[in-house]
Amino acid sequence: MSTKTHNICPAQKIAVIGAGAVGATTAYTLMIKNLASQVILIDVNEAKEEGEVLDIGDALCFSETGCVLGASYRDAASADVIILTAGAAQKPGETRLDLVNKNKAITTAIFKQIGKIKPTAVIIVVSNPVDIITYLVQELSGLPRGQVFGTGTGLDTARLRTAVGKHLNVYPQSVDGFVMGEHGDSEFVAWSTVGVGGANAVDLISAPEREKIAKAVRTEVYEIISRKGATFYGIAAVTTDVVEAVLFNQHKVMPASTRLENYLGVSGVCIGVPAVIGRSGVERVWSVKLSADEKKKFQASAKKLKEFQK
Ligand code: NAD
Repeated sequence: MSTKTHNICPAQKIAVIGAGAVGATTAYTLMIKNLASQVILIDVNEAKEEGEVLDIGDALCFSETGCVLGASYRDAASADVIILTAGAAQKPGETRLDLVNKNKAITTAIFKQIGKIKPTAVIIVVSNPVDIITYLVQELSGLPRGQVFGTGTGLDTARLRTAVGKHLNVYPQSVDGFVMGEHGDSEFVAWSTVGVGGANAVDLISAPEREKIAKAVRTEVYEIISRKGATFYGIAAVTTDVVEAVLFNQHKVMPASTRLENYLGVSGVCIGVPAVIGRSGVERVWSVKLSADEKKKFQASAKKLKEFQK
């Protein structure tokens, strides 16, 4: 008898809406990591969708995924996980908030066309501004709120772990902790949560160095976009990690943009916090102890987002 263990989740269907840089890279990463039997890609630009399906399909024989297909919005309705990456991306000089009106309109049109979504589906929002689009999709999808969440500060947290790891010359996976708040300019590193192999980062890294790291994390998006026009590898890896936590019901504590009820003095806003992620999406928000200054930053970030989440 073969002892080979397959990582694959049988008969799971993942829909990726938007076959742009982020959507196509995410579909490819999901396929290579064998997370579903079927990955479907949906884009308003049919030629782009078809091209990506053919290109990604060239790697199928190196994966255990059954198929990667182009599909319609209605096909997304029966998916186990729906990943929203459609919409305009930042151009050089634009902030994520500059995308709000365009991407709200695109998102509303998409969910009208999808129709009634499978009641056990989980929707992961990646499109920016991710906190605001998450709030909107919670309103549009008809699913319980926990089943709809955004990647939030997932990418920023990944950047933080890498930067701290580089600074201390340790593997990024040995670094734990969170960037919190808006996935955008008002985000902040919650240094109170950052640990490295059981030690507190604040005891290992000086305040000026911490400031430098936090600034580099916050502005890296602009560094990448000014040089190559888009960011997609990091977010594809982050999203794939979230899908894995959902499909394998891992109860993993990871960053997510979710609607808060009385968390650190914030209610009624989707914003990036640590959350426990499993098969039903956000199972609960994870409580962390912040310094008074971090708590102020968190509340200011939520106040900024609340303007757009009504
Ligand atoms: P892109 O321009 O390469 O791709 C966007 C795709 O969406 C295009 O292929 C476009 O045809 C498609 N699209 C537009 N309207 C559509 C519709 N109605 N239905 C289906 N598809 C539609 O952009 P990208 O670089 O892939 O970025 C996608 C989104 O992800 C942007 O909003 C970007 O800001 C965001 N993003 C988020 C993070 C994060 O950390 N959350 C990181 C990177 C990018």
